[in-house]
Amino acid sequence: MAANGQSGVSTPISSTTTLSLVSASTVIEFIASRSTTSSSVFVYDVAEQVGFGTLTKSWAGASSNEVASVVSLQTRAGAGLSLVGRLSQGTSKDAGAVLTAYTTPSGLAAMVQSLSFLPAPTPSSRLIIQVPTVTPVGDSFALSPTLASFTPALAILPETFSVILSATPQEAVDLAAVSYRATDSHVIHLFDHHSSARETGHSLVPTLPEQEPGLSVKDVLSAAGYSAFDYAGDQGARTVVVLLNGPLALSAKALASKVHGLGVVTVRMLRPWDEEALRAVLPPSVKQIHVLDDVPTETTQGVLHIDVFSAVLDPLNSTPVVKSHRIVPARTQEFVTKPSAFASFLCDFVATTAPASLDVSVAKKVLFFSTPTSPLSGLARTIEQTFIAPKSISARLLTDHDVFSKPGGVTAERLILAPKDDMSVSVPVSISLPLSSDSAGEANFVAILDQALLKSHSIVAHAAPGAPVLVVTSWTGAELLSNIPADVLTVVRERNLRICLVDPKAVAAGTGSLDAAALEAVENLVLQTAFLRLYLGQAGSKEILLKLVRKTAGELPGVSLEHIVDGAWDGLVEVEILAPETTPEADAPKPSVLKQFTFNAIAVETDDGETVVNGARLASWHDAAKHIMFPSAFTPTGVTFPSEDEPVQHPALRPEVPERTYLVTCTVNKRLTPLDYDRNVFHLEFDSRGTGLKYEIGEALGVHGWNDAEEVLHFCSWYGVDPNQLVTLSVPGTDGTRMHTRTVFQALQQQIDLFGRPGKSFYPALAEYATEKADQYALRFIGSPEGSATFKKLSEKDTVSFADVLRRYESARPGVEVLCELVGDIKPRHYSIASAQAVVGDQVDLLVVSVDWVTPSGTPRYGQCTRYLAGLKVGQKVTVSLRPSVMRLPPDDKQPIIMAGLGTGAAPFRAFLQYRAWLASQSIPVGPTYYYFGSRHRSQEYLYGEELEAFMADGVITKAGLAFSRDGPHKVYIQHKMKEDGVDLARMLWDEQAVFYLCGPTWPVPDVYEALVESLVKHTGKDAVEAGAFLEGLKEEERYVLEVY
Ligand SMILES: Cc1cc2nc3c(=O)[nH]c(=O)nc-3n(C[C@H](O)[C@H](O)[C@H](O)COP(=O)(O)OP(=O)(O)OC[C@H]3O[C@@H](n4cnc5c(N)ncnc54)[C@H](O)[C@@H]3O)c2cc1C
Repeated sequence: MAANGQSGVSTPISSTTTLSLVSASTVIEFIASRSTTSSSVFVYDVAEQVGFGTLTKSWAGASSNEVASVVSLQTRAGAGLSLVGRLSQGTSKDAGAVLTAYTTPSGLAAMVQSLSFLPAPTPSSRLIIQVPTVTPVGDSFALSPTLASFTPALAILPETFSVILSATPQEAVDLAAVSYRATDSHVIHLFDHHSSARETGHSLVPTLPEQEPGLSVKDVLSAAGYSAFDYAGDQGARTVVVLLNGPLALSAKALASKVHGLGVVTVRMLRPWDEEALRAVLPPSVKQIHVLDDVPTETTQGVLHIDVFSAVLDPLNSTPVVKSHRIVPARTQEFVTKPSAFASFLCDFVATTAPASLDVSVAKKVLFFSTPTSPLSGLARTIEQTFIAPKSISARLLTDHDVFSKPGGVTAERLILAPKDDMSVSVPVSISLPLSSDSAGEANFVAILDQALLKSHSIVAHAAPGAPVLVVTSWTGAELLSNIPADVLTVVRERNLRICLVDPKAVAAGTGSLDAAALEAVENLVLQTAFLRLYLGQAGSKEILLKLVRKTAGELPGVSLEHIVDGAWDGLVEVEILAPETTPEADAPKPSVLKQFTFNAIAVETDDGETVVNGARLASWHDAAKHIMFPSAFTPTGVTFPSEDEPVQHPALRPEVPERTYLVTCTVNKRLTPLDYDRNVFHLEFDSRGTGLKYEIGEALGVHGWNDAEEVLHFCSWYGVDPNQLVTLSVPGTDGTRMHTRTVFQALQQQIDLFGRPGKSFYPALAEYATEKADQYALRFIGSPEGSATFKKLSEKDTVSFADVLRRYESARPGVEVLCELVGDIKPRHYSIASAQAVVGDQVDLLVVSVDWVTPSGTPRYGQCTRYLAGLKVGQKVTVSLRPSVMRLPPDDKQPIIMAGLGTGAAPFRAFLQYRAWLASQSIPVGPTYYYFGSRHRSQEYLYGEELEAFMADGVITKAGLAFSRDGPHKVYIQHKMKEDGVDLARMLWDEQAVFYLCGPTWPVPDVYEALVESLVKHTGKDAVEAGAFLEGLKEEERYVLEVY
């Protein structure tokens, strides 16, 4: 069996040796599977698919009583219930036992709901979950260290769990031991199986945990020399980045040691959240905190942000600004594969340019490309062993596979050689030598062990200028040059790479007649010698090479090592690369399409023709591809976490919203009035593609706005409620027959009208919860008939909100669920749609004016929904619904229309005009169109002025009456403009079936009515009573239509 994944390494482990040729993941399996540590190990399929658990199973298979019993489990909806059953008292043999489970972040997300049924932890009855953090992401199923699938689930993780995260290999081993030593909680340990924990070459000291009753994770961490948070970087930093421990945390720390003014806090203990410990590591100089949260989508609220925000919030003193950065899986991938992008992202916070590299330049980076089945594919490990022996050198090796880009797969191995004290040792190998598609060349040495890869894959692009490239090939130099694609040759020339060839088969054949096994061994030694000669350069004399080869190979019976070294020495040839011949343009060879290596498989082994990909035994490579493409293999179904902040269209998922809702995306948010103008009127556009949203002209859009996040967090902190705590609320309109569960933060941000206006009945209802007599009386009084004047003042003058009332009467602190019921839900606000769907397609436009005011005590206040809308960012999702309207165009397009509006009243008329212009463009006859628009200043509030001018020029608007009340010496309003056109208006209304519309604020209604009466009286000969009766009749006929608000 040829084992190429690390899980195949069968180095014996004991708790007393220092290990360097096994990975931390292997040591974690060793610790977790001891019968003295766990009574049973539950290996979930998702963990095994990423190469974690296979060893435990094989150890258990050897039926040694040193190993815990092993149970294989599928990840399905309700995953975790079997653990609950096993741990529940009196139901099984494991009741009163320490159980271990292996799963991945997405597997953990699928199991988290079941975990709430776990019995409370006791020193002898606990669950420890070891989580290798690696998750397939995107279309290419590239494996990523993102925690995005798990972090939203934290909101419902029971408090009986501690969550700890490790980053370096030794730390992964230590925290695995810590997770068993702590006895007062269940523990989840997440470790970097994407890189650090799979690397070999680190000197690991496995410590077997001894359990002492009553110890918390914090105690045990501290006894092991770790703390809940680490601080790295400038001690006087004003800017601090906070992120979860893991590969990017190591990069951030390395960066902070090079960048002035930047500090980095890494979170090692995420639960229980220790606010005090966080405050203690922050430098007093900090002014800005940037929190990086792994989230599934950009609209998902980051858990860490909320934690950090509430930790630093101090109502009495000025606190640092806490900024949230939502890192979606694609971003994590970018940061991991392109460390320079991550460095620039962090350096932007301190307005500086990123250093060229995160690690020190003395490290030598070697890259090996092979195919998993090649007999020579052990070269990287042999070289690692050659270099690991000297005490002063660290040799770290990471093996990754790509099973999609070539039948049989491709293996990339990265070896970093550095002085032992080099700080790059702490940056994972994957980040130290990234394999990004736009690599500028970072490998100091590239070895290609299969000549076909030179033709199919982009490999030389990873070589640094001047680097040697060793190719195992049967080709001569000339054959190689004619075989490789032109663009590969271009890179070779541009980077001045040294292409060297060796044919170990040919050299071995010349060493005498040997059996197949001995020949393979000789071929490997030839390759090792060729590599070392090229790598060591001048220092690689024949004597040195012989010494090194002897050290690894010992003596082979019937084989002369001198002969092998001589053969390899002579067999290594460097290809002469000549300058390109100038080719006429037309004959120039077309660039080839080389494939990129994508890391998508961890363990690849072959066993008698069978293929094992990420732990699953498959019949063919075709099956392997299907297995990985089949999302359910990696993404457990059943339990989904609808993006917390993302309201969804399906009523079952957002039952508190009674009408049909649509999730549209903001594409434009543009202020129309000048910045220095006191009124903020803005134009919004939403993309409704794929939502099924269909609207009629004149309809209004219901917007389900949210409360301000920071204001909610402030309130939570003041009220003393944990924003992550769960609340079960009754679904409105269901009389408490339907309930749903959300975090307090979600409930207060998205559902409960905490900053809205309390009705009179709220006061006596709240009085029931007041513990101070004075508060009780006051609240009851305001709600009583005698308190009407006080209520009026509070409501209309002071414009107090529910939150204000709670702050005024502090002793009234109902529990948060009661509070939610007392306050009630945020109502959607309606906005006339300012677009015609026939013209704009899957798009909805709105015209909105911000509502704000100042209370008598001088506090600025904002309208709930307009504040939300004004703050919308492009790309943000918004839940909307539709409201039918009276604002309908007449059935006959030839009927005249008269539109009058102030300010945002222009919105539906824009839709009308768009539609009439569209009809006209198709030569459909359209009746006269009169448009009256009023605002204060033409220069500042001529809303959609340019469009209107164009409509006037095209004749879509037959006549416009524009009234800018404050532009001239006398106030001019729309009613004045209407009176000027009185003869036309009277004729159109009386004789031509015209429809009149007024939209916007209510106050011009009487004046406009009067202007119409006056026109009718003047130009039809009727008296005022008859004219009034005529207008009333028009209302019945829906020819006098008002939409005022
Ligand atoms: C059919 C229809 C179409 C509409 N079309 C548009 C449109 O196209 N464009 C547009 O901008 N608007 C439009 N509106 C108005 C819109 O629906 C909202 O009413 C408006 O945007 C204000 O909403 P808000 O949530 O920002 O303010 P709110 O929070 O609802 O506040 C509104 C007012 O209520 C008062 N208030 C708020 N809180 C308190 C309190 N605690 N105590 C006492 N008083 C308080 C304040 O006076 C405040 O001005 C339309 C309304 C309707 C009915």
